[in-house]
Amino acid sequence: KTYQGEIRVAVDDGQFISAKSLTKLLSMGCKYGQTLTFIAEPDTDAVEGLSKIIQAVQQGLGEEVEAIENKIGTQQTNTLEFEEEITTPTTGIPASTGLAFGPAHVIKPKHFQYERFGNNVKAEKEKLEIALHSVKNTLHQLIAKTEANEIKQIFMAHLEMLDDPDLIQQVHQSLNQNLSAPAAWHQYIEKAAQAQAALPDRLLAERAADLRDIGDKVLAVLCNEVAVQEPEQPYILIMHDVGPSDVARLNKDRVAGILTAVGGASAHSAIVARALGIPAIVGASDAVLNITPHTTVLINGDTGAFEINPSQAQIDDAIQERELQHQRRHEAEQHCHEPAITLDQHQVEVAANLGKILDTEKAVNYGAEAIGLLRTELVFMAHRQAPDEDVQEKEYRHVLDTLAGRPLVVRTLDVGGDKPLPYLPIDAEENPFLGVRGIRLTLRKPQLLRQQLTALVRAADDRPLRIMFPMVGRIEEWRAAKAILDEVLLKHPCPNLEVGIMIEVPSAALIAPLLAKEVDFFSIGTNDLTQYTLAIDRGHPVLSGEADGLHPSILMLIDQTVRAAHAQQKWVGVCGELAADPKAVPVLLGLGVDELSMSASSIPLVKAQIRQLNFADCQQLAQQALKCESAFAVRSFVEQTHG
Ligand code: PEP
Ligand code: MG
Repeated sequence: KTYQGEIRVAVDDGQFISAKSLTKLLSMGCKYGQTLTFIAEPDTDAVEGLSKIIQAVQQGLGEEVEAIENKIGTQQTNTLEFEEEITTPTTGIPASTGLAFGPAHVIKPKHFQYERFGNNVKAEKEKLEIALHSVKNTLHQLIAKTEANEIKQIFMAHLEMLDDPDLIQQVHQSLNQNLSAPAAWHQYIEKAAQAQAALPDRLLAERAADLRDIGDKVLAVLCNEVAVQEPEQPYILIMHDVGPSDVARLNKDRVAGILTAVGGASAHSAIVARALGIPAIVGASDAVLNITPHTTVLINGDTGAFEINPSQAQIDDAIQERELQHQRRHEAEQHCHEPAITLDQHQVEVAANLGKILDTEKAVNYGAEAIGLLRTELVFMAHRQAPDEDVQEKEYRHVLDTLAGRPLVVRTLDVGGDKPLPYLPIDAEENPFLGVRGIRLTLRKPQLLRQQLTALVRAADDRPLRIMFPMVGRIEEWRAAKAILDEVLLKHPCPNLEVGIMIEVPSAALIAPLLAKEVDFFSIGTNDLTQYTLAIDRGHPVLSGEADGLHPSILMLIDQTVRAAHAQQKWVGVCGELAADPKAVPVLLGLGVDELSMSASSIPLVKAQIRQLNFADCQQLAQQALKCESAFAVRSFVEQTHG
């Protein structure tokens, strides 16, 4: 109020209100993490006040809150903090195996500064035209340079968006109302992106990210921001977080490795990074965003350690180590079709997790002895509409045909939580991971479950089919699902069938002795079991790194599950990400797990590892691990005893 001119504020692109009115400020209902935009009346002292107000907000407006800007760190202050850390090796959470090095390509959350109103409508229109022209030119160059067709198509779609006559017309309308070119552009893009994101079709909704992406490119030119140049050679991509859709767009030839500030090893984005075979470290803290672009970074996706500005000797070591890894992998692949038997003759079944029907052959080629988890919700997601019984039967039949007699463990639809299905709307929930998910959903839509079960048993034709239900937490859920299956079986008998449940809710592990009397097998989903035991959202941007499946509490639940199953002569598999973690393999073996199921590309190395182990030693190791006080202690103990 000490400034004469008017100062206005809006939250997240909402309506501007006077920043001098307390009641209006309160009614904005602004929350921590939202974006405030301030404007000041031109040609008054209020313009001067803007920077002071922004500074005050960043400092928490007199409250003890950590301002977002400070958390992410302004480049200047954190660069200094970071430089001090450079001398010691830095670590994050290993998310995808392998060594990689290259220039840092840092993508930071962008902040653009611009005047809200322009001085001259014609001049602003020209500015916009020049900016659009420049971005289109860059896109044409990128299209010419890019070899991968999928990436080319993304850039071509971006070009289409920029050529949209409706877009130009709408932005011009705002320019005619005296808005500056960046303000008019940003306002339009944000509105369009929000409308896009609200579409019920997930694939279409995800295109909002493309709109914002292209919007930022134009805005960067309008605000004279120097665009971060993609390094010429394969680089280490450094971002706050990489969403599953970002990872899917990555070009393996350009991105040597990924380093993110947040994220955990079992978030779905990390699962995709592994599937693409790009070494990745996640959850390495916001400080990584302050690594100077183009500085060489060396990452080790097996240990989570990374090095900024590594010495030539370190790079040489990494190249040598990578060569060794390639050799090890090559050798392991030569033997991938042989069984995994320990030195003292204990055999473990090694199976593949599958999300795409057409990947079955790849799994078999990598030595999968079975499919240990077919994530049918991913099969459903590949369809724009719910696949009917015939379509499903055909797809399951393809998997069984390709498996040529190897068992197929199919999980019934596990929708909900972080896996929505566009054509199966679920009411908004405050805690989707604790809500109508997995079996809780399909029991409420029995027709959907019945249809899936029928398609499965019809496709079986005497081949070894195993069906399991996800997210079972209570014995009633198992019995209700089994009753639906029994009904289906009356009409479609299926002789070579086993029926089981996933153990991914702690309550199921705790009542495993009761469940084991009724089921044919258990498959432990350590991703969710970890999430629910440690009460840490598996995709939580800050905490998920602490969700380590080797925590003794989870090992106790696995131990209890295996004992209960074996007492009833039933088998137990592990199909969460832990199954392929080299530190976890000896522990899981030692706990008596009969089958390990993992992403196909991990199979050769895990089989090779098992062949080097001694089962009796693993049993001792597992007993010690159960007594450890933390996941860290378990990992250190395995490191000491099994290198
Ligand atoms: C798990 O929870 O461990 C699991 C295998 O299932 P998903 O990752 O698909 O939830
Ligand atoms: Mg799960």
